[in-house]
Amino acid sequence: MRTSASKIEIPRAFRCVPLCPLWLRFCLLLPLTAALASTAACSKGPDAAANATAKSEARAATPAPEAVPAVRAADNAPLPHIDAKRAFEYTREVTAFGPRYMGNENHKKLERYILDHLKGDQVEDDTFTADTVEGKFPVRNIIAKFPGTKDGIIAILGHYDTNYPLRNTGYVGANDGGSSTAILLEFANQLRSAASGKKRDGYSVWLVWTDGEEAVKTWSDTDSLYGTRHLAEKWEKDGTLKKIKALMVMDMIAPTDLAILRDTNSTPWLLDLIYAAADRGGYQSHFYVFQTAIEDDHLPFVKRGVPCADVIDMPYGYNNVFHHTPQDTMDKLSPQSLEIVGNTILETIRMLDRR
Ligand SMILES: [Zn+2]
Repeated sequence: MRTSASKIEIPRAFRCVPLCPLWLRFCLLLPLTAALASTAACSKGPDAAANATAKSEARAATPAPEAVPAVRAADNAPLPHIDAKRAFEYTREVTAFGPRYMGNENHKKLERYILDHLKGDQVEDDTFTADTVEGKFPVRNIIAKFPGTKDGIIAILGHYDTNYPLRNTGYVGANDGGSSTAILLEFANQLRSAASGKKRDGYSVWLVWTDGEEAVKTWSDTDSLYGTRHLAEKWEKDGTLKKIKALMVMDMIAPTDLAILRDTNSTPWLLDLIYAAADRGGYQSHFYVFQTAIEDDHLPFVKRGVPCADVIDMPYGYNNVFHHTPQDTMDKLSPQSLEIVGNTILETIRMLDRR
């Protein structure tokens, strides 16, 4: 994935009211953006005490979305819980395969590993050959379907490929590729055991391990998102897209200091629903301190009018230093972060089922 122009923008608290003229917004936002950029930059720096303060202040300044009280008041259902230790172990095992770019041996091993964990589930493939600036690559999206009693689909996506240009650098993508693969495997466990052989009580949930999310050379509209561009087109043609009530992408969701940003390319009501779900679990301080526009696996579906949310933590490490570097390793990650995201997304699914 990549961020647009500037990586980090202002938090919700500092967004201007709609009546504010554009030029005034610009004047107001410039100093605020600069201030917050410095807050963001120092929040994961070496001066831990000062940085913790800066970060907590930024968080305190972020207002909760309006949807939260209504959802909270209407619902006392028990909160879902993933097995975070197991999800973390999956991340470790996936990462241990090494570089997993489209079509290489480790990628094939990982395909088998994913399929081994989906035995007995309804699994489909979406395979094709991507013609890229670096040649042809086999691409394989893996889809596990958990049928529901309600008419409609909730799709949860996460890429399992790692970056091809970094293939000879020792890059293993623990967070970027590893965590998304693992959380989907844990979602499969949860959905399987909750349904216990029957249809789940709600929408069908489809889990999609997407392939070819990463660029093979330099990120662009044509060099990126190979798997999801193909899948979105296919689902548009066969009518699947019309049935999708919500599509959520998991990407880079396991860093120790979890801060899921608010992606402005995503659908606001779905982002708000995720926030409401996080709020129920007491996880809201990990969501939406920052906002920016993210290009990720949701884009081909956003372009076709599907309600989408990209659930992603950026920047990854101080000044984003671990992103797409050999330092994207297991020691930067924690089971608690997988738990926060996992529980929140399961709760979001439950809330979507009730709508
Ligand atoms: Zn990446």
